[in-house]
Amino acid sequence: MEHTRRDFLVLAGASATAMGAQVVGQPGIAREQGDAPARVMAVAAHPGDGFFSMGAPVALAAAQQGAGCFLSLSLGSRGSATIPAPRYGDMQRDASQQAAQKLRSQAIFLDYEDGEIPVNDEIKFAVCDKIREFQPSIVLTHWKGSWHKDHQACHAIVEDAIFYAGLPAIARSRPAHSVGKTWYAWNWEDADAFRADTYLDITPVYEPWMEACALFPMWRGENGFRYNDYYQSHAVATGCLCGAKYAVALMSPPEQLVRHLQAL
Ligand SMILES: [Zn+2]
Repeated sequence: MEHTRRDFLVLAGASATAMGAQVVGQPGIAREQGDAPARVMAVAAHPGDGFFSMGAPVALAAAQQGAGCFLSLSLGSRGSATIPAPRYGDMQRDASQQAAQKLRSQAIFLDYEDGEIPVNDEIKFAVCDKIREFQPSIVLTHWKGSWHKDHQACHAIVEDAIFYAGLPAIARSRPAHSVGKTWYAWNWEDADAFRADTYLDITPVYEPWMEACALFPMWRGENGFRYNDYYQSHAVATGCLCGAKYAVALMSPPEQLVRHLQAL
């Protein structure tokens, strides 16, 4: 029998690599047997980033006895050319809360201005506190290779916030919490030098994820970019690479890819 490229990828399975990427499928999100259900926190610069590029893994964790949380550093209030920022920010907040409810998750916000998200210790500790409060086992965020300054800022903020959250010597209102794993989510605006190393089968939550995204005022291209067509077709294309109907591509920090072996 002639094996196609797809056969190779499917046969490669969860423990091997396919085009350099690990395949993560059922029964849970990147879980080893015996692990507790995942608690996944998406930290995004703007609400749409959280739900469109990181929403499916969050939804999958919540659907598999875990928990999900969407933290947005701003309301993305300046995203419309026609709707005034305060009104648009309210619409984004409402959409996030409804979308999170649909995905059995929670939506929380910091109130930094869209387009002006700073990189300083104030915001890093604010995110640190949210991490200590939700206690995620996995954090998803932006890859740094973005043309959008808020996305670059979010990447840097989250990196240090995770570090602060895990240090017991840093006294905050809640005790230290170590995040087990970080992944950067594929986002059309963060594509520079993004290299997927993990594919996640999100087929079980594809429909509710799409319904949640459709609650956002920008989803159908209202602001000039067809998010719906892009993220739907990207989930199909990524699924083709790992033998799933729908999948998302994730990238790990380099240190997360280091393997510790006790035998060859
Ligand atoms: Zn954004």
